Amino acid sequence: MNAPMNEAHPERNSESTAKDKGISRRNLITGAAGAAVVLGMGGAVRVVGGTVPLRPPGGQDESRFIGTCIRCDRCRSICPRHAIKGCGIEDGIINMRTPKLNYRIGRITSGYTRLHEAATPYEGLLDAEGNGYCDFCNLCIENCPTGALSDFDPESAWIGVAAVVPNLCIAFDKLGGCRKCVDYCAFDAITLDEAKRPVVHPEKCNGCGVCENICPSSSYRTFTSRSRRGINVNVDEQGRPQ
Ligand code: SF4
Ligand code: SF4
Ligand code: SF4
Repeated sequence: MNAPMNEAHPERNSESTAKDKGISRRNLITGAAGAAVVLGMGGAVRVVGGTVPLRPPGGQDESRFIGTCIRCDRCRSICPRHAIKGCGIEDGIINMRTPKLNYRIGRITSGYTRLHEAATPYEGLLDAEGNGYCDFCNLCIENCPTGALSDFDPESAWIGVAAVVPNLCIAFDKLGGCRKCVDYCAFDAITLDEAKRPVVHPEKCNGCGVCENICPSSSYRTFTSRSRRGINVNVDEQGRPQ
């Protein structure tokens, strides 16, 4: 599926922002070195203390991705939602400077109504305001010079799958009362159970990150929960349940 045109923000359409895809010598050397390391390890990428990061759309085949990404930073710099970050040493040496999604950069500032009133959830996401989630605009894919990020159809593919963390989710507290993730998910992938606690339906979740972005759990808790929220999008190594 091609991303719908964003009439409210024409600068976010690929036609008006596509850049020349020239590759610097330094990037090529870095990419070739990364590919060589992967090949030398027989394609094993979950090594050197790293886990598989949450990749931008189209980068979900990790072995292929790590062998073709040249760490050029183009996807990160073009993402209109500022949802892409460069991996650091904590992600493992082999992943350093490759892109990963971070849904805790910024906030969706408005858009609940538009998310739900738009003709499709994708149009609603493109039309919403704010940063720190993926609206499937495709810009990172179209500006990747090596094809490390390749075609991605959010109707059939997924970035990751959201999961609730009961001991961080406010709805599991005695007072409860929070249902933000349910209200903001444009794909109806979260419902409340009889005890008014959120339940994710993985077959409907494509990993857009709106729920993690909007989850207020870290505002109510100590700094220890800052790296995790009441709901987080994780890489699902088993694949998306159908
Ligand atoms: S598809 Fe668009 S919003 Fe999503 S990560 Fe890529 S550039 Fe960012
Ligand atoms: S938004 Fe966060 S705290 Fe609120 S119900 Fe969802 S997971 Fe729980
Ligand atoms: S990541 Fe969250 S908001 Fe996005 S589809 Fe999945 S459950 Fe819904």
